[in-house]
Amino acid sequence: MPSKPALHDVVIVGAGPVGLTLAAALADAGFEVALIERQVRAALSDPQPDGREIALTHRAVDILRSLGLWQRIPAEAVSSIRAARVLNGRSSSYLGFDPQDSGHSALGYLVPNQIIRKAAYAAVAARTAVDLRAGVQIETIQTAGDAAIVQLADGSCLHTRLLVAADSRFSETRRRMGIGAHSRDFGRTVVVCRLAHERPSDGIAYECFGYERTLALLPLNGQMVSAVVTVASDQAEALLQMPPEDFAASLQAQFGARLGRLRLVGERHAYPLVAVHADRFSAHRFALAGDAAVGMHPVTAHGFNLGLYGVDALTRVLSAARGSGRDIGQLQTLSAYDAEHRRATLPLYLGTNALVGLFTDNRLPARLARTAVLRLADHARPLKAALMQRLTDALPPARWRPPPPNLAHPDPSA
Ligand SMILES: Cc1cc2nc3c(=O)[nH]c(=O)nc-3n(C[C@H](O)[C@H](O)[C@H](O)COP(=O)(O)OP(=O)(O)OC[C@H]3O[C@@H](n4cnc5c(N)ncnc54)[C@H](O)[C@@H]3O)c2cc1C
Repeated sequence: MPSKPALHDVVIVGAGPVGLTLAAALADAGFEVALIERQVRAALSDPQPDGREIALTHRAVDILRSLGLWQRIPAEAVSSIRAARVLNGRSSSYLGFDPQDSGHSALGYLVPNQIIRKAAYAAVAARTAVDLRAGVQIETIQTAGDAAIVQLADGSCLHTRLLVAADSRFSETRRRMGIGAHSRDFGRTVVVCRLAHERPSDGIAYECFGYERTLALLPLNGQMVSAVVTVASDQAEALLQMPPEDFAASLQAQFGARLGRLRLVGERHAYPLVAVHADRFSAHRFALAGDAAVGMHPVTAHGFNLGLYGVDALTRVLSAARGSGRDIGQLQTLSAYDAEHRRATLPLYLGTNALVGLFTDNRLPARLARTAVLRLADHARPLKAALMQRLTDALPPARWRPPPPNLAHPDPSA
């Protein structure tokens, strides 16, 4: 016999980093929340390493801090990005970012995804207003009338004013609700891993746009970097299977000797690159959050950051609606969130995809164009400042710099 339906203000599908953070934020704002996750509880409370090191903006850190989640992240797990350099092919010039004029000592911070997820789970587990249903599947969803009704495979049924999908960029719930999405499959795969190195990185992140593949090296504590290698998808398996020494040598050949000898530490993980932007972020009794709303290409490191800005926007909109006695699940209420989050994400989504297209095209016109774009970025200062501010959220304007002698194109054999 079906059990009596439970009543919640908000039901969230997906206890990834965004679903968990949203649950904590809504609980703090006084809402009764249910969180549905198909993974079992042990996978949430003790997540395994997935190779992702998440670069967080200052605003993202502020949001996490306001929820008490940042305080749950051990200090030694946080690495500072002090500066960044964008290198183009074999050119010895680079586009540099420094925090010196911004009032911050770092451009941003890197935290392993596994640690963020663990801290977010602990934050939710400590909030009695969140009813976490882990290890369950959704059978049906209905959103007509004054409630959304979610029927679970374990026989339980949840009634709610608002259903939020935070169930990844391939969101089944988004599809069930009939919301389409712009999606771009780059035909590329990113391979991520940690590398130990001999010389100090001084907290500098490198993005090297090679002609065959893109390599980012992100500075971690303990004389290590997170390597993010983007290759055509048909080459990814070979990269994953390469003996560790050969793999490190192949990255060394592209990056050179700036950090001394590179050595693979731990596992390599692969992610196919598909970017997604939903056609709308809300419907009657329904909203999208996190990657289910906007799944970014990782090159500009904005996916989770944008997810957090969405958490902030949705919590504000729902709190204001409740404060003025309005129904939190009405489309009219949710359209304010939709508009704000679209404004925050669409330019970055389109800009990132255009950047990726330009910097991964090996044809001569594209090579010339990217050199011109990088140089132009230094001369059109107001434009550059505005673009970079938007792109990096509190990063100062970039500066085009000639290479210092020790950064002239590296000799991999040195
Ligand atoms: C290599 C790489 C590097 C990245 N680097 C950065 C970075 O530097 N900075 C940054 O901001 N972002 C970065 N990102 C993006 C970031 O990882 C994502 O934006 C973030 O994980 C999105 O979180 P989410 O909770 O929306 O979705 P997900 O992490 O995808 O979680 C979705 C959750 O929903 C659950 N689920 C799915 N379907 C269902 C269902 N039907 N029912 C119940 N539960 C379901 C899943 O089990 C999962 O727990 C990177 C991504 C990659 C791949």
